[in-house]
Amino acid sequence: MGAGQLGQMLVLAGARLGCELRFLSPDADAPAGRFAELIVADYENEAALAHFAEGLDVVTYEFESIPAAAVRSVAEKVEVYPPPIALETAQDRAQEKTCFEKLGIPTAPFASVESMRDVREALERIGLPAVLKSRRLGYDGKGQALIRSRDEIAAAWVTLAGASSIVESFVKFTRELSLIAVRSRTGETAFYPLVENHHSDGILRFSLAPAPNASAAVREAAEDYARRLMNELDYVGVLAIELFETANGLVANEMAPRVHNTGHWTIEGADTSQFENHLRAIIGLPLGSTQVDGAAGMVNVIGTEPDVRRLKQVDNVHVHMYGKAPAPRRKLGHITVTADDMDGVRNKMAQLRQAMSR
Ligand code: AMP
Repeated sequence: MGAGQLGQMLVLAGARLGCELRFLSPDADAPAGRFAELIVADYENEAALAHFAEGLDVVTYEFESIPAAAVRSVAEKVEVYPPPIALETAQDRAQEKTCFEKLGIPTAPFASVESMRDVREALERIGLPAVLKSRRLGYDGKGQALIRSRDEIAAAWVTLAGASSIVESFVKFTRELSLIAVRSRTGETAFYPLVENHHSDGILRFSLAPAPNASAAVREAAEDYARRLMNELDYVGVLAIELFETANGLVANEMAPRVHNTGHWTIEGADTSQFENHLRAIIGLPLGSTQVDGAAGMVNVIGTEPDVRRLKQVDNVHVHMYGKAPAPRRKLGHITVTADDMDGVRNKMAQLRQAMSR
């Protein structure tokens, strides 16, 4: 369910495993539709959901804003992985953070708020600065407002248009990390190395893997949190956790019950890509090795198309375009560079930046 670039990369990985994929999306031009059968229909269309589910062995989703009711409806007909509860938990920031707290996974102190008065009261406890985030449908920095002083409460509330929200304390992080984890139907788990992520304007710009100078303790903590979540949710498939690294250890920001932008480098950078491992997990195959030799960097192509021929002049550059029309802030593709070590990756990324800006 969903047929964006994540679907595109799933279908390409699936072809090698001998899987045939069918997609459902309301968007007739969806990227995955270029490579596999695409049923174009709204997620609320029950007849289309039934038509979609017919003859399938297993269903997964690659888009987090699919109405949970549609996924539940399909789950009555076919097995759906990750389990719908994982999607529901990730779709509501309050539920997600409550789940983190229950499992002892550190997360920024927060409160659910329904009014400006709630925000004022919550800030008494949480303190400033803080971030107001809509509970639902927030991604790529949308549905968020920073509150630095009490004077900014009203403006922040207006930015979010009074949606059901959470307010959470601003985390003074040293960097952003993510962990891509995977759990099979038999409960086998595997983890890719931690990834270092760089955002600007709320959008992921580039990732480095393995995250430079990540201590074994930090890695073990991240894997422990992922394990707790996957066990709690009886999880099957790839799970991404976004983490803040702070002076006092890791703080979980959010999770994504799907393949993730910060794991795209695994296509060329790891023995088995996150896409192949997601499919292996949901169809009941043993997981593939998550071993990484050397290092990788991934740069998102955002807003405007690069000159692909120019990019290709840098060696070990892998270009993935999604066939989308250019638009501001839209992810049009990504580029992965691989090298023996992180110095090599940084060097190639500098060359790449030059080639992209020409
Ligand atoms: P999110 O939509 O929650 O992934 O947030 C998008 C980006 O906003 C994150 O990747 C961080 O760079 C930043 N951000 C979100 N929440 C916080 C927070 N509590 N403290 C500091 N920065 C944050």
